[in-house]
Amino acid sequence: MNRLDDTHDPALRSWVASANEAASEFPLQNLPYGRFRRAGSAEPWRIGVAIGDSVLDLHEASERGDWSDEIRALLQPLAVGDLNRFMALGPLARTTLRRTLSQALREGSAWQQQLAPCLVPQAQAVMSTPCEVGDYTDFYTGIHHATAVGKLFRPDQPLLPNYKYVPIGYHGRSSSLRASGHGFARPLGQFKTEAAEPQFGPCRRLDYELELGALMGTGNELGESISMASAEDHLFGLVLLNDWSARDVQAWEYQPLGPFLSKNFATTLSPWVVTMEALAPFRAPFERPAGDPAPLPYLDSADNRSRGSVDITLEVWVQTGAMQQRDEPAVRLMQSNFRDAYWTLAQLVAHHTVNGCNLRPGDLLGSGTQSGPEEGQGGSLLELTHGGKQPITLPNGETRSFLEDGDTVILRGFCERAGQRRIGFGDCAATVQPAVSPVVNPVERAVG
Ligand code: MN
Repeated sequence: MNRLDDTHDPALRSWVASANEAASEFPLQNLPYGRFRRAGSAEPWRIGVAIGDSVLDLHEASERGDWSDEIRALLQPLAVGDLNRFMALGPLARTTLRRTLSQALREGSAWQQQLAPCLVPQAQAVMSTPCEVGDYTDFYTGIHHATAVGKLFRPDQPLLPNYKYVPIGYHGRSSSLRASGHGFARPLGQFKTEAAEPQFGPCRRLDYELELGALMGTGNELGESISMASAEDHLFGLVLLNDWSARDVQAWEYQPLGPFLSKNFATTLSPWVVTMEALAPFRAPFERPAGDPAPLPYLDSADNRSRGSVDITLEVWVQTGAMQQRDEPAVRLMQSNFRDAYWTLAQLVAHHTVNGCNLRPGDLLGSGTQSGPEEGQGGSLLELTHGGKQPITLPNGETRSFLEDGDTVILRGFCERAGQRRIGFGDCAATVQPAVSPVVNPVERAVG
């Protein structure tokens, strides 16, 4: 596992002045990767690194910089927008480039003159998802979420007996992943009401899920597994992930094979991948409450126990359509911490591959909804409103049981710890658009 080096020094300052502001999520100590192009241009996607309020364009930087052959080779896939090829190179490539970029962007660096023309204001960049995601698995590591949701359906047995032994997950859909900023139409689907027959129409119980997404670096061959000892070496970094969920559709369809159309209509990712190296100062022990079963040996390691968790504060903010019209800022609905997850990232990788399943560079592992232990710390409206029975009231008097058209949901995440520079993830935001009219041909319907 990666340890601290001089790139984490909290005293480091950049010649990009905005990166030195205390509120900046992208100081010199962060250096996350994203895929972008200039707004209004048709230029090919390229990879950039966020620094302050700007993006360092690695396409421009690879052409203008007087790099060593080693660094030039690392920049080559990034210059052509192929983060996956860089992800496949593993942690040594990442730490090498991180050190080089950290030095080049430091105050007083001789590189300033070459690299200053390679900066693009983030406000003028259009972001894509950071990489090609071949496969997407969504886990269920939030034990407080699993318990709260379980209580709604099974008051006498909220947590199923497998939960503390198996990292629960399902295979999701990568084709509908979108970067922050892309809205989506309220999905249509089947759901059951008090009526005898199921209804069809726009979802009535649309919800968000506050999650982290882990993006894979180096993969593994089919038939081989990744052990706990090397699991972290296969992780590239983390993004914020909103697993939009149609609760009414989900309730009707999920048995016996799990979520399907209730989840696959849209999933939003934050555009910047915060690397595992940037997260190194914020690692924490992985602990379980006294009396809970120890993980099976293939999901256990001394390193995982001592620093398997990551201390990331997570938040959900909302701005309704009415608030947007009146220029009122978004309000925070809740806060939780990834330290409360019941399984670590390394355990997810080890479990996913223990049967020989191959993960590939850029594959996405969702953490599951990250709720805190207290009332009001639910990572979804399903929890905050107790299944829609207790609507929440916003500061402007509006109430919500579930999302309405025009609502913008913003996920935020940051790491802060005494003696370390605070780093952030950037917003993961999207707005709910009205449903598109159902296309149901009455003649076909009568025939069918
Ligand atoms: Mn989920």
